[in-house]
Amino acid sequence: MSTVTTRLFAPAAERRVPALGLTAADFGAIVGSTPTNLAYRDLFLSHQDLPRKLKRWAEENSVQLRTLDRVKVERGKCSQKVLFGLADGYAVESVLIRRRDGFTACISSQVGCAFACQFCASGQAGLKRNLDTSEIVEQVVQLGSKVNRVVFMGIGEPLNNYENVLGAIRIMRDRDGLNLPTTGITISTIGIPKALARLREEHLGINLTISLHATTQEIRDKLIPGSRKHDIRDVIGRAVSWAERHNRMVTFVYLLLPGVNDARVDADRLVRMLSYKPARVNLMRWSPVDGVAFGRTNDRQTQYFRHRLERAGIPVVVRDTQGMDIDAACGQLWLRDLQGLKAASRARVQPTALA
Ligand code: SF4
Repeated sequence: MSTVTTRLFAPAAERRVPALGLTAADFGAIVGSTPTNLAYRDLFLSHQDLPRKLKRWAEENSVQLRTLDRVKVERGKCSQKVLFGLADGYAVESVLIRRRDGFTACISSQVGCAFACQFCASGQAGLKRNLDTSEIVEQVVQLGSKVNRVVFMGIGEPLNNYENVLGAIRIMRDRDGLNLPTTGITISTIGIPKALARLREEHLGINLTISLHATTQEIRDKLIPGSRKHDIRDVIGRAVSWAERHNRMVTFVYLLLPGVNDARVDADRLVRMLSYKPARVNLMRWSPVDGVAFGRTNDRQTQYFRHRLERAGIPVVVRDTQGMDIDAACGQLWLRDLQGLKAASRARVQPTALA
């Protein structure tokens, strides 16, 4: 068994209904006609010292209020990365990022990932399992009540765990649940065409970001091996169709990699693919990650891409891969942790809300 597949914690002794996966209707059904002065939103209180009446109610109804175990926190200037232990022994990470007007929670949707992107630590270990709805919602709850944006950019491909991710988003959007603002939630995906077609028909008021990273099928297949069966034109077409249906812009992320996808001909192709579409582009500049042998595209080439897109009327921003102060690239803490000290042998971090 590889280090990565070794589980970190002992399995939970008993399974109870996880509170943070309950919809308002589920909660109502459990409460039933029993007199209680609890409200559905009480389930989502972020501080750990939960009201005694809530704890008593949970005990009486076999409801488990929290299932994630915060085992490690790395703090940077503007971000904190948290390693959460799951009840079955696996672990996932979340990142809390401070902005001027609030906090963004970057959360995971799966343990590992099946898509094996060449630039991502999460993909190197393969997919272990989907997170359930409550495990997704709880990451946000544990990151604190000041979180007002959520991005699915942690470990896993959210559209490869469609039902649980959509269930979690509904709970996050519920006014009586986490009550996150409209457009405060972003799904970041490599773009699975069938799932994009389903997403087009959902009425959720979310943002959609597609990790494109290439302008030819050949280069995309190399960068995202798990996406080989997805035609790049179909991915773009479905994403644009979602944008048109919801009267929004879709964001395409393009990670510039020297000698791979940053030639002038790539910029020209990108312009042809996205001109006159409800689309914008985030050009990402690579932050080096241990064990991933990519370099960083130089300033001149980056500016060429930017100006080429701007001249074509395509909105563009240039960003560094985020959270550089604590190596908050997707999946990195998780991978490093599994290769290092056993989580079970470490002291638990005091579980207070971070934001
Ligand atoms: S970038 Fe996303 S889709 Fe690709 S391997 Fe990493 S987690 Fe999976």
